[in-house]
Amino acid sequence: MPRLLIVEDEPALRHALTINLRARHYEVEAVGDGKSALRAAATRPPDLVIVDLGLPDMDGVDVIGGLRGWTNMPIIVLSARDRQSQKVDALDAGADDYVTKPFGMDELLARIRAALRRAELTDPSLEPFVRTDSFALDLAAKRAWKGESEVKLTPTEWHLVEALTRRPGVMVPSAQLLADVWGPRYEKETSYLRVYFAQLRRKLEADPSSPRHFITEPGMGYRFEP
Ligand code: CA
Repeated sequence: MPRLLIVEDEPALRHALTINLRARHYEVEAVGDGKSALRAAATRPPDLVIVDLGLPDMDGVDVIGGLRGWTNMPIIVLSARDRQSQKVDALDAGADDYVTKPFGMDELLARIRAALRRAELTDPSLEPFVRTDSFALDLAAKRAWKGESEVKLTPTEWHLVEALTRRPGVMVPSAQLLADVWGPRYEKETSYLRVYFAQLRRKLEADPSSPRHFITEPGMGYRFEP
């Protein structure tokens, strides 16, 4: 069941979208401002975001920019602004598609399906093998090799490895990794990540003291470089 995040400040429209999309078997989280949207997306990453451009606390274009700092999840803009330049701004910021209000539910549903389909086609998580110059992973079979020798990873280590290798080169915020792997109550326990990444580097990196594949972005998060 794909998870959608709706960012819309008009309560009636937010409600109507939620009801309609749930009826189509999407899992829906709906928020009314930009800050809540960024927080929700980082804590419980959706499969797709629908964002209104006119929000009470910040511009929808900045919400898109904020999301694009760390994720390539599909983003559909929903807006009453229909000037060409405004569409271009939203698309330049990283939106995948643009629906002008007023719109028909069928049109929006078709755009959602298309965006999810494209995302899946380009989703590297569908490729279960990860190879670097120092290690190889078979994510489907849960087997790992450093050079020629097989190494054992714990379920938590696999979970972290999967969360990072799914989006090569993209920084995943620490809070999101913690929420993903340990649960939402652990978002601040960054020491867990330090311990586990030290372990992972010992097991997989050619030189664990100067890692080339599991990179720390100090104070922000972690990134996998293939
Ligand atoms: Ca609005």
